[in-house]
Amino acid sequence: MPQKLLLLASLGGPPPTLLKDLEEPLATHLGLSAVVSKAVLSRPDYAFNKDRAQYHCNAILRRLVTLLEPGQAMVLGVTDVDLFVPDSPFVFGEADREAHAAVVSTAKLRAGVSADQLRRRVQVEAVNQVGHLLGLSYCEDSRCVMFLAQSPGDIDRKQQGLCNPCRNELAKLRR
Ligand SMILES: [Zn+2]
Repeated sequence: MPQKLLLLASLGGPPPTLLKDLEEPLATHLGLSAVVSKAVLSRPDYAFNKDRAQYHCNAILRRLVTLLEPGQAMVLGVTDVDLFVPDSPFVFGEADREAHAAVVSTAKLRAGVSADQLRRRVQVEAVNQVGHLLGLSYCEDSRCVMFLAQSPGDIDRKQQGLCNPCRNELAKLRR
């Protein structure tokens, strides 16, 4: 079976090198080929909510979907703006499986860490969100990449890969 192709797109600040560094973990842990979009989008001002001073994930996801070209199965956006969904104070990222689009943000991940640590955090949360796009749910195992992280410390405690039950689930979803 040919590998599914995932498009990676920067919205605003994140440099292409950071997106490039997502290719390897997405291939290793989810079996996906990823390609970095040539289009670098501007900061998603259309998604800005004045009252919260944050950016609404859904508006960004709708924009990301329009980037998909024939042969590309899904899209992951990487941004540096602070993201929200209506029922949470903030989110590290969000995925809409039906729309085939997900987004992750560095906004809550970059304080006080080196470029290497930030890269690892973004890699972990990218695998998590794309795992949701593939149909995986949240996992109770706090070491598993599909665990719902509430803090950067939670992300640092996670592996970049799936626990055994999640790996089995992914294999089932592939069939
Ligand atoms: Zn798991």
